[in-house]
Amino acid sequence: MMQKEALLYEALENNRVHCYLCAHQCKIAPLKYGVCGVRQNVDGKLHTLVYGKAIAANVDPIEKKPLYHFLPGSNSYSVATAGCNFQCGFCQNWNISQLSAKSNTILGQELSPEKMVADAKKAECASISYTYTEPTIFFEYAFDTAKLAKQAGLYNTFVTNGFMTKQALDTIKPYLDAANVDLKSFRDEYYKKYCKAKLSPVLESIAYMRKLGIWVEVTTLVVPSENDSDVELNDIAGFIAQVDVNIPWHISRFHSDYKFTDHGATPVETMRRARDIGVECGLRYVYLGNVPSDSDTYCHKCGDQLIKRAHFSGEATRIKDGVCASCGVTIPGVW
Ligand code: SF4
Repeated sequence: MMQKEALLYEALENNRVHCYLCAHQCKIAPLKYGVCGVRQNVDGKLHTLVYGKAIAANVDPIEKKPLYHFLPGSNSYSVATAGCNFQCGFCQNWNISQLSAKSNTILGQELSPEKMVADAKKAECASISYTYTEPTIFFEYAFDTAKLAKQAGLYNTFVTNGFMTKQALDTIKPYLDAANVDLKSFRDEYYKKYCKAKLSPVLESIAYMRKLGIWVEVTTLVVPSENDSDVELNDIAGFIAQVDVNIPWHISRFHSDYKFTDHGATPVETMRRARDIGVECGLRYVYLGNVPSDSDTYCHKCGDQLIKRAHFSGEATRIKDGVCASCGVTIPGVW
């Protein structure tokens, strides 16, 4: 098992350590693990157990993250390690996210940051995305890779649950260009019950990322009868709008997975209702995942179609130097 001393922790008395990488803020006794199961106290030092150990590495369209206002039409080298700091019952990557050193199930192939950057360049990717599982829990690996990627002219993106601390964001900020943050619910009980986590750190991260100048898009997986009420959707959209009406909101369609096999797929009518609520709350860009023709981008001022998307691709042919080719208004994003 590959080990490396972790960042963002402090030593405590009796050889215990305090990890402040994410909002769980674990205090870990010798030889024990944090909640994520991939950080261990070894002789009073916190070690990451997943450094350089990729469990998935693929070239994906950036639209798959999803990031719709960030280098559209480009490919992103996408990497993950085992582990997560959440335990969501509806996780769509549970087979890799719920692996942990506690059960001796850290799997993966050796892939150094240098090799990853070289592979990304060879595949003509514009960026590297730290995704599929939670990038926060493989922070040191992502951090070292992101630094090298930046030097090589690549962008970096996180696809994240947003549960990291401000210290983590301050550390990665010089290298992190964009993030898609999951806002799974606007109810703390939901985060507690289904993810074994809390809502408020996620809200703080979304606002703080915007403040730091990281390009942010937000995704909400709408699960029937769990987080699909008008009131809750209104709370979510209202929060995003209050941070910045230019943040694209991706409403994602649930399909049965992991422990949530008793819930059916999200009805298309629910998805459209959510989209309408987003627009009523003032959001300029609301997208429906897995619903054809609801993933195109229209100018928020003149309504001209700027990007037509199909099968996770789409060229921004009607955006010139960041402005709408029809009316000249600035289109928020990185183009
Ligand atoms: S990253 Fe892991 S060890 Fe650190 S605070 Fe979060 S769950 Fe705990």
